Amino acid sequence: LISVRGVNKFFGDFQALKDIDLDIHRGEVVALIGASGSGKSTLCRCVNRLETITDGEILIDGQPLPEEGKALTALRSDVGMVFQSFNLFPHLKAIDNVTLGPRKVRGVPRAEAEAQAHELLERVGLADKANSLPAALSGGQQQRVAIARALAMKPKAMLFDEPTSALDPEVINEVLDVMTELAQAGMTMLVVTHEMGFARHVCDRVVYMDQGEIVEQGEPEAFFTAPRSDRAKAFLSKIL
Ligand code: ATP
Ligand code: MG
Repeated sequence: LISVRGVNKFFGDFQALKDIDLDIHRGEVVALIGASGSGKSTLCRCVNRLETITDGEILIDGQPLPEEGKALTALRSDVGMVFQSFNLFPHLKAIDNVTLGPRKVRGVPRAEAEAQAHELLERVGLADKANSLPAALSGGQQQRVAIARALAMKPKAMLFDEPTSALDPEVINEVLDVMTELAQAGMTMLVVTHEMGFARHVCDRVVYMDQGEIVEQGEPEAFFTAPRSDRAKAFLSKIL
């Protein structure tokens, strides 16, 4: 579903991504892990074309990423992204954050968009918060609204960039639980995370990056118990 081939990305002279090849199949849940500055966010942002790649190609469903215009808007709907910092519209109630995209981008009538938004808010455990403004919600609740908002666009795949890093420890699990359900429901997901329990027990594959390269990837249990590369061994010894 997502195919990254020979991708390089420079910021000026600095090479943030080095010859990245990565295929994510339909229904697959992939954890992207690695030290700070290794290029994880940059890779996610390139897949959603929030950054342009310097060379190589990225295909979604066999199609190259669109350059601009309506096709780019459609891409951002098809490949939902959830950020560390939630990025909800602060002046809109939870329900309106969820209905905005379907109404403005997909042209869904208000009543239908709201009915769907109520279902999604219920799915993320926030049926009773539909009329709350983001400021009145906890970080974990805001992040679940952000997930519902991305799901409202009926995406083919979801990118998560450290969705729990900004959260207080006691609400991290409520977000991970929603992501686990999504994974089990068959969503295709690329998840940048420091939550090694999630990577190990929920994801189908772990991809380990260092200094802009994919150093190693594989089945989570094998990766965590017997990493092959010295760099992965050193990384795991620091965090586990
Ligand atoms: P973290 O775990 O801290 O989020 P990361 O793996 O997501 O790290 P990136 O944010 O992808 O890392 O950054 C990779 C490298 O690219 C870093 O060295 C960073 O300084 C650099 N970089 C990222 N964005 C830019 C930019 N807009 N301009 C210049 N350099 C950038
Ligand atoms: Mg990052």
